[in-house]
Amino acid sequence: MNQQRALITGGAGFLGSHLCDALLGEGWRVIVVDNLLTGRRSNLAHLRHDSRFELVEKDICEPFDIGHVDYVFHFASPASPVDYTVHGIPTLKVGSLGTFHALDVAHQYGAKYLVSSTSECYGDPLEHPQKETYWGNVNSIGPRSVYDEAKRFSEAVTMAYHRYHKVDTRIARIFNTYGPRMQLNDGRVVPNFMKQALCGEDLTVYGDGSQTRSFCYVSDEIDGFVRLAKSSEHLPVNIGNPNEFTILECAEHVLKVTGSKSKISYEPLPQDDPKQRRPDITKAQQLLGWEPKIDLETGLRMSLDYFRTALAEETAVKR
Ligand code: UDP
Repeated sequence: MNQQRALITGGAGFLGSHLCDALLGEGWRVIVVDNLLTGRRSNLAHLRHDSRFELVEKDICEPFDIGHVDYVFHFASPASPVDYTVHGIPTLKVGSLGTFHALDVAHQYGAKYLVSSTSECYGDPLEHPQKETYWGNVNSIGPRSVYDEAKRFSEAVTMAYHRYHKVDTRIARIFNTYGPRMQLNDGRVVPNFMKQALCGEDLTVYGDGSQTRSFCYVSDEIDGFVRLAKSSEHLPVNIGNPNEFTILECAEHVLKVTGSKSKISYEPLPQDDPKQRRPDITKAQQLLGWEPKIDLETGLRMSLDYFRTALAEETAVKR
């Protein structure tokens, strides 16, 4: 039995909590460090009696030490456009100071390290699909820059610790991921559309809905992280689903899966909203033998019970 200790910063968030389950499933002991700014205790509630799991409520923008660890998974950050707009300065701090502190832990204990980066590093991309070698097209002073630049900086610090301190690092560039445990109100397109469809409200398409995204179901994404974690690749690897949809097509899938009679209404496109996003996953296929298996419609069906329950809980709290 593997009794090595893994640290997950931001492990109470959507992706971090699923990674936590996967690592426990592989026999790791897992310590989650999270300040619960956007993460939620409820994402980890099913683990509260598991002696191999611990949640430490702490802000990693301060230096921290939880004892010896063998692997650091640095996932802490607000990640939805609504969350990182509301929490702009904490987003910049966790991407910068928080990344230094996570890497300091890895350096101190000789631990391996994987950081969750993002397709936002490509900004509003002029190259399509996006390969890891593309340097991106980011507005450094726009409303999304608090997240985009924090993550780009986070990649830079990671590579510096690899080069200067020989830390054994990995960088996962995540594209739009969805599934159970997403916050109903985090503003991202899938929870927004699911909630609106289930409530019989109009689906709010921003702009004309012709912008594209490529949606990866959470279990595929986590499988990609675990494979990357076991690899020795230090340069970034795209982990995402290359099947690309317009936002209007995404709305149609949600209507079909929910059986909703909701209509579509159009709202202004947010500033700097990327026009297209699609990962080139050749590197992950060749290096990790990984590719996603779950298509959008199947993944939405697999998420439906979760969104129904989350909505019922929200409605009960409001009563
Ligand atoms: N979007 C939309 N309606 C919504 C929420 C989002 O049309 O209610 C659009 C948004 O403008 C973007 C895409 O859906 O083009 C994906 O947005 P999301 O916030 O999920 O993630 P992003 O990829 O922009 O970080």
